[in-house]
Amino acid sequence: MHEISIAKGILSRALDAASEHGADRIDALTIEIGRATHVNPEQMVFCLEAIADSTPAAEAKIRTETIQPRAECDCGWEGAPESLDLPGGFAPDIRCPDCGQRADLVQGRECRLASIEIPDVSHDDKPPARRADEVRGSPS
Ligand SMILES: [Zn+2]
Repeated sequence: MHEISIAKGILSRALDAASEHGADRIDALTIEIGRATHVNPEQMVFCLEAIADSTPAAEAKIRTETIQPRAECDCGWEGAPESLDLPGGFAPDIRCPDCGQRADLVQGRECRLASIEIPDVSHDDKPPARRADEVRGSPS
């Protein structure tokens, strides 16, 4: 399935980013999905959850953000292509409303990792001092 291969790429980037930061788990990850792709956000989340099982991202919350499509024409027109009004209804033939020429889709075909959230691991070796600072002044 289409989504699985994209999901694998996204997950491996997320795991790489986490290990670069020395994190042993991922709390959350956000993916951007262009509306001009055929990718179904719910299916993408489902795939990611399935393949993230038994990885450091197993417990991660997965969020999706929709990227609105934009098209550009040589004449200078730029805007949202009307032929993409139906979610998932990708029409490759986008016409410029100004001059009638074929316009290029410049945004909306993305499907990528936007960000990850990892635990703050940089202070793991000196928690006592930090904890004391944090609780000071907050009545229990
Ligand atoms: Zn034009």
